Amino acid sequence: MTVELISVGTELLLGNIVNTNAAYLAEKCAGLGLTCYFQTTVGDNRERLGAALRKAMGRSDVILLSGGLGPTEDDLTKETAAEVCGKKLVLHEPSRKAIKRYFEAKGLKPTDNNWKQAMLPEGGMVLENHNGTAPGVILEVENTKVVLLPGPPNELCPMFEESVMPYLTGLTAQVICSQTVKICGVGESRAETMVKDLIDAQTNPTIATYAKTGEVHIRVTAAATDRKAAMKLIKPVVKELKSRFGNDVYSTEEDTSLEKSVVDLLQANDLTVTCAESCTGGLLSARLVNVPGASEVYKAGVITYSNKAKRRFLGVKKSTLQKYGAVSEQTAEEMAKGAALTLKADAAVAVTGVAGPDGGTEEKPVGLVYIACSVKGKVTVKKYHFSGSRGKVRESAVSAALALLRSCILEYFSKVTFGKKD
Ligand code: ATP
Repeated sequence: MTVELISVGTELLLGNIVNTNAAYLAEKCAGLGLTCYFQTTVGDNRERLGAALRKAMGRSDVILLSGGLGPTEDDLTKETAAEVCGKKLVLHEPSRKAIKRYFEAKGLKPTDNNWKQAMLPEGGMVLENHNGTAPGVILEVENTKVVLLPGPPNELCPMFEESVMPYLTGLTAQVICSQTVKICGVGESRAETMVKDLIDAQTNPTIATYAKTGEVHIRVTAAATDRKAAMKLIKPVVKELKSRFGNDVYSTEEDTSLEKSVVDLLQANDLTVTCAESCTGGLLSARLVNVPGASEVYKAGVITYSNKAKRRFLGVKKSTLQKYGAVSEQTAEEMAKGAALTLKADAAVAVTGVAGPDGGTEEKPVGLVYIACSVKGKVTVKKYHFSGSRGKVRESAVSAALALLRSCILEYFSKVTFGKKD
């Protein structure tokens, strides 16, 4: 089954808002095993929207439209879709009541145009909106399904998950399940090369790689008659991926982020951690602290931006800074050692680099970052070259720091266990 997205809104065409709905819907549809060949963005214009919808209906099985269901004059999606699908707009009494209740609950009086939202295409399947006033609608025109969804993401996402996903799943006799193998510390092209044979041979399950900052996610998706049968197809492929990527796989759970896996690992090994940050200016600490329960492992951290601060708070030697510079292996190492000592933590991560856009030299270009990690006194330092904007360099450095911390902990404990067994 093919799906096509039409995002409606002049704001989107002008670049005033980012089309997060399209990204969200595309990802969800891929997860459901639907194939998406086309996405269109069109302004609040009846003729052009009508033309885009007609074209989509001529080539895709399911059309998802987002936006333009509001009460104002420029909200035209429902009217246009009704016209294209040959349906009349009729009053939908439950929606009228829901709009009335919505305004009463907020102590507000609806304006005349609010009732427009209760006028829906005849014969359509109405999707309740629990977070706003515009109901969604599913129209079935011969074999094509046209789904109208509100624009605000806080309305669209729950409506899609509560009503549209079960509807789409019900259209096929199959269930689609997927599991994601999340990998850190391996670049996208290397990861892809490592699974090329699996991708080339894929039928069911299918394998797709997605690059994230500092991470690669490999999604394994299977279609089967029920969930159990789909998971049975997925399991051996996930096992194979785990064996190929080894310790670089940090999770196969949907809701586990890299930082959560690091916090879990620290907790499991009874370790506390601290961060000494220069170019990342607190981003690393922020990502760790974002994980619920981080307080058990994260006690303190420092941002030491200037050389003076690196010396004062971390005890980095003046001679080290003079001889090697602030962005160097030696400074990173002393930062990590100093942080572990002064902030009394079992593990410490230090980041120092040139985030740019200025400040780069031939010897130390923009994007050069040193990350040092100390686990119970054993220090590892790595050199990285990140590309992109200042923001991208800083984000990449944070992901690399989390990945390095993770691998240093794993390595430390594998050696300890090995030693014990010996
Ligand atoms: P409303 O009842 O709020 O008017 P609507 O269904 O008519 O909802 P729009 O008017 O098109 O939707 O958009 C309302 C708001 O929703 C936009 O200002 C924007 O903040 C958000 N929005 C709309 N479309 C998108 C999109 N594709 N991606 C992200 N946000 C969006």
